[in-house]
Amino acid sequence: MELAAIIGLEIHAQIATKTKMFCNCDNDAFGAPPNSRICPVCTGQPGVLPAPNKKALELGVKAALALNCKIPRNSKFDRKNYFYPDLPYGYQISQFDEPISTDGKVEIRLNGDKKEIGITRLHLENDAGKLTHIGNFSLCDYNRAGTPLMEIVSEPDLRSAAEAKIYAEEVQKILQFVGSSNADLFKGEMRFDASVSLRETGKTELNPRAEIKNLNSFRALESAIDFEIGRQKKLWSGNKIPESDSTVGWDEEKGETFLMRAKESAADYHYFPEPDIPPLILEKEFVENLRSKLSELPLSRRERFVTEFEVSEDDARNLTESKNLADYFEEVVKISGDAKKSAAWILSELLARMNDENLKIEEQKISAENLGKLVQKITSEEISGKMGKEIFSTMWRSGGNPQDIIEEKGLSLVTDKDIIWQHALKVIGQNEKVANDFKNGKEKALGRLVGEVMKLSKGQGDPKIVVKVLREILTSNIYIKREASDRKNG
Ligand SMILES: [Zn+2]
Repeated sequence: MELAAIIGLEIHAQIATKTKMFCNCDNDAFGAPPNSRICPVCTGQPGVLPAPNKKALELGVKAALALNCKIPRNSKFDRKNYFYPDLPYGYQISQFDEPISTDGKVEIRLNGDKKEIGITRLHLENDAGKLTHIGNFSLCDYNRAGTPLMEIVSEPDLRSAAEAKIYAEEVQKILQFVGSSNADLFKGEMRFDASVSLRETGKTELNPRAEIKNLNSFRALESAIDFEIGRQKKLWSGNKIPESDSTVGWDEEKGETFLMRAKESAADYHYFPEPDIPPLILEKEFVENLRSKLSELPLSRRERFVTEFEVSEDDARNLTESKNLADYFEEVVKISGDAKKSAAWILSELLARMNDENLKIEEQKISAENLGKLVQKITSEEISGKMGKEIFSTMWRSGGNPQDIIEEKGLSLVTDKDIIWQHALKVIGQNEKVANDFKNGKEKALGRLVGEVMKLSKGQGDPKIVVKVLREILTSNIYIKREASDRKNG
């Protein structure tokens, strides 16, 4: 019996607003002291009224549009009732049967092949607080309570842990590119629940699934799904096929899932329409206005980089790792006028150093304008590539523009023909045999002479002028004359 894994993902992403979902508390509580970003509304005090954050709604709709979802005119908020210490209201304000969007899709690439993953819905809700368990105590921090979230539910279209990871990464990029979420996993701004079940290949019905809760990194997502597939395969081969849904957790240290509870159904939450918030009406004009402001999505940008700038698909993928990096690259190209060289400098020099020091593009010191100017100076042969690297190092350490650094260090290529002329004569004098080889038709011999002249000018000679001067000397009478006079002097 051959078994296929059937996987669906729920992605929770924090919406990138300044304030929380239903109050004016600061939405960025990362690193803030516990319970320092709270108010009566987000801690659910009696008598308060939640007021939806319009920006959160706009960013939610933008994300839904980027995920190719439909936006119905009517939607509403609902109460999802459950009691838990991190949930001060005793319920979560979410969306049940009328979410702000449905029926979307995301295209992913698997080893070059295209695959579409269906999006069931994207809805809005607020986050709970955070519990820290220490021994027999639990500490509550409500800074996160009321943070706006979007929940993106996929169809069970994924077939492997690797596929799930690629899909999650693509969604992360889409949210970042349209500015709906920073989706920083390290800061807990994106979390995953993965539903896993198995079925015999060829069959179409879905079997009871295990939902793995609260995975907070791509690695955890991939490992947990892989483990769960393996666990269920063993059950199937022992003829103990799961008969009901279950909720499991992921133990990162042990590298295994564990049973949390038999899965609750929607009925357990006693959903009912949120009485404190009127139904939402999203007019076509509002939606279309947001659609017109959507920035280019990662996939289309990758494809455009390949066709417009002729970079490889791998390079295009690396250059669109973040929206800021993609913007940076395009800015560098605009100034340097050379896409391939710009890509090469970013990928091999800049990204390598950024990785070493764990920096993002917006955190390092070289502006797109200055890198563009540097690349331009290299392509126009104002400076050599070797010098370029030296200038780049200085820019990396302390910023600054290449022209100033060139002047400060006196680095400019020696274009002064007189200086090169003197060096050339000296080199020819010291390498008579090589010079004669060239004169007798051995074109290659010139290269050695060029190298020697460059050495004399400490790498700062302009190679083009060096070649020109050497040819001029070796193919004219000057050479013979100088040779004769040098001999006499010698
Ligand atoms: Zn608040």
